Amino acid sequence: MKSLQYVTVGEAPRIVEVPKPKPGPGQVLLKVTAAGVCHSDEFIMSLPEEVVMTRWPVPFILGHEGAGIVAELGEGASGVAVGDSVLVYGPWGCGRCSYCLKGDEMLCPVAVKEKIAPPGLGSPGAMAEYMIVDSPRHLVQLGDLDPVASVSLTDAALTPYHAIKTSLSKLGAGSTVVVIGAGGLGHMAIQILKAISGATVIALDISPEKRAFALEMGADYAFDSNPAAVASVKDLTGGVGANVVLDFVGMQATVDLMPQLVAPGGDVQLIGIGNGVLPIRFEGLPFDTNFRGPYWGALPELVEVVEMARRGQIKVEFEAFSLDDGAVAYERLHEGTLRGRAVLVP
Ligand code: NAD
Ligand code: ZN
Repeated sequence: MKSLQYVTVGEAPRIVEVPKPKPGPGQVLLKVTAAGVCHSDEFIMSLPEEVVMTRWPVPFILGHEGAGIVAELGEGASGVAVGDSVLVYGPWGCGRCSYCLKGDEMLCPVAVKEKIAPPGLGSPGAMAEYMIVDSPRHLVQLGDLDPVASVSLTDAALTPYHAIKTSLSKLGAGSTVVVIGAGGLGHMAIQILKAISGATVIALDISPEKRAFALEMGADYAFDSNPAAVASVKDLTGGVGANVVLDFVGMQATVDLMPQLVAPGGDVQLIGIGNGVLPIRFEGLPFDTNFRGPYWGALPELVEVVEMARRGQIKVEFEAFSLDDGAVAYERLHEGTLRGRAVLVP
């Protein structure tokens, strides 16, 4: 079968022919219907060889956002049937520890020890004609939802949903939230905030196209992402700042804005993987500010996100590419010219 692989560190991913995999005991084989392109892959592909080889040794099949049709069940696998259209929950855990039993598989401490890794981030990913899912537990039924339009719910929507839910008590009527970066994750964050909170949403992005896109997605205001944005946010909040700041960029330039944007007693959440450093010291942030570095989301939260899409409360904006054009999709992500998410369709 055809697969899109990161083969050589520093080079663009390319198509590689590999044998169609066989599901082992308890596993599920999916015929892939869609695979999403995430900036985290781009981050991994920007890392030096010694780091890549210790954490995600090349070559490997990319794709941690996956959707497919159940094609075959391994021995003893049950709970799904051949022909079911499903989404793949990506942050696979052991399924037995106290984190996993609550659905927080992304926090599973056993996974590292037992070498359980997410598809596309240690296990073969979704950018192929077929993929193996380690357990039916990691599949969420799509029903008649379009897989191409839904695949990015598994990360681009799940990750901001998980972050927003923990700050929801601070996002009631009259509150303000700043969303930094209106790309794949950011455009879903804006829609989720409008659907489940009472907050005024202010988007910051360096790209004028992305600012216009943010307004289209429901943001109340959009400003260029630079130190002048602090005054704009203060003006809109009676000089106090935003109750919650969600940074989907995480570079030093955006991390530096966070302490200036947030109100006392607010939340700052660093979601973007951009190597920016936020110095934590007394008075480094306004008094009583909470800092969080959230990772992906919980299995029950993916079910909730899919339900929001089913009810029309949120919608992934995407550009579709063939598997052969996967490298082009990553190039467009790198250029910052995508509208929403890029989705590969094998
Ligand atoms: P994306 O490329 O689709 O979007 C990034 C957006 O940020 C673009 O709109 C771009 O114009 C904007 N941007 C770039 N530099 C900026 C700056 N200095 N100020 C303001 N805006 C700026 O990326 P994505 O796929 O949405 O991913 C966003 C980030 O989230 C990435 O760093 C990714 O690695 C990370 N991520 C984290 C998790 C997690 O679990 N914490 C999960 C998925 C992705
Ligand atoms: Zn991702």
